[in-house]
Amino acid sequence: MSIRVMQNYINGDWVDSTTDVFGTVSNPALGEQIASVPYGNAQDVNMAVQAAVDAFPEWRETPPLARARYLFRLKDAFEEEFEEIARVLTIEQGKAIDESRGEVRRMIENIEHATGVTTMMTGYCLEDIAQGVDSSLYRQPMGVFACIAPYNFPAMVPWWFLPYALVTGNTFVLKPSEQVPMTQNRIFEVIDDVGFPEGVVNMVNGSRDVVNAILEHEDIEGVSFVGSTPTAKYIYERCGATGKRVQSLGGAKNIVAVMPDADVQAGMPSLITSFFGCAGQRCLSGSILSPVGEGADAFVDKFVAATKAMKVGDGLDESVAMGPVVSKAHQERVVAYIEKGVAEGADLILDGRNFSVAGYPDGFFVGPTIFDNVTPDMTIAREEIFGPVVSIIRSETLDDVIQLVNTRNFANAACIYTQNAKAVREMRYKAAPGMIGVNIGIAAPMSFFPFGGSGNSMFGDIKGHGREIFQFFTDTKVVIERYF
Ligand code: NAD
Repeated sequence: MSIRVMQNYINGDWVDSTTDVFGTVSNPALGEQIASVPYGNAQDVNMAVQAAVDAFPEWRETPPLARARYLFRLKDAFEEEFEEIARVLTIEQGKAIDESRGEVRRMIENIEHATGVTTMMTGYCLEDIAQGVDSSLYRQPMGVFACIAPYNFPAMVPWWFLPYALVTGNTFVLKPSEQVPMTQNRIFEVIDDVGFPEGVVNMVNGSRDVVNAILEHEDIEGVSFVGSTPTAKYIYERCGATGKRVQSLGGAKNIVAVMPDADVQAGMPSLITSFFGCAGQRCLSGSILSPVGEGADAFVDKFVAATKAMKVGDGLDESVAMGPVVSKAHQERVVAYIEKGVAEGADLILDGRNFSVAGYPDGFFVGPTIFDNVTPDMTIAREEIFGPVVSIIRSETLDDVIQLVNTRNFANAACIYTQNAKAVREMRYKAAPGMIGVNIGIAAPMSFFPFGGSGNSMFGDIKGHGREIFQFFTDTKVVIERYF
């Protein structure tokens, strides 16, 4: 198979990176290289930002509805390419094809929400703030914004930001994850066909050097970042130091409580998806499963049985529920966590190490793994594993679970399975995370609600998409006027 070399998209053209440093993109099910990605540099970033700076004045003057029309055309084009984008996504990222379809759907939903710009971007005014004096507030685009994306949702995550930045009149530079650049490459081919004005939307491939060049570039007004907590913190601090707007979403350690009155049969499919969907590589994945009170043994038996019934394999196979993890390095990292759990004394009741899939000897698979009798201080209960590994911590009361939730070093999401409204209220009221699921295992807000956690799972003030994103991409201008 020929190895494709990724290019940058700058000023409406596909261009080679100026670097001579390249990384490998693999098909994680096959464990073989499928593309090569340039690890770009400041020169690449400068070219993209200059194109975006030059495009800004005219794009800004384009009426909001005319800008939205580009998005309408883009949505139609993505619907046409829907299956192909999902296929590319699974090939390079590994997730099951239906999960890729769900992800592309969520990406498109952000375009749909962004087209509401004529309502969402409006200001307000008030007459006679003093006699004969009126005041009004305008929202204005600011210039060039950038996004730095993670590997686990290569299609969707950049589109939590990109359509809103564009529709409000800004121009944009995207850096996809160097581990999965092919999906956005396919998406940008569609953008190219739709024909945005040159320089309005640009893409630069690379890793740290590109990130640092974005952070240092004085013509970039703001950065939307999604990734692990250490990087999120670094991005937030650098943007603070260089005076950029920033929204920086980090990692997670999500807890799912199962109360004694939970409808376990109805909830089991979503519980399984919570822990094993995308092979545990979601920022909203369940990581700690906490059955509360009596009945925990019977619940754990059912959970283990449902886990064993799940088919693991190549994500392109429609019957597969869970694919591989993204890379060999990540496979080794997850296995190292399993070994740590064993060493620290948790009971390994389902072992996903040395997991093999017939016909895929080199795939980066980790089998579903379940630890029972985990304690809150163990490494596997504290750190983000980001793989198909469940830590069961049995709790006596809901208060114990909430205490557990609020003492993790993350606060992205927490879920509760119950029929009891009082228990739900307790969780909603007291748990720190920014996203709460009730009989829902993946508490993922849709595009018209904000996406993001709290604490070490989110740095900055404005989260992804939702209503508030229109504020992130605009500055306010207040006019106070009187006429003699
Ligand atoms: P990552 O932090 O390793 O990388 C994210 C981006 O930052 C990539 O584009 C990468 O090139 C860049 N980067 C990585 N290290 C860097 C460094 N030292 N300096 C500068 N740039 C750097 O994250 P990942 O492994 O790609 O993604 C998985 C992580 O993302 C998990 O922690 C997951 O929880 C998190 N995530 C969070 C959310 C959320 O909404 N909070 C959503 C998706 C993923």
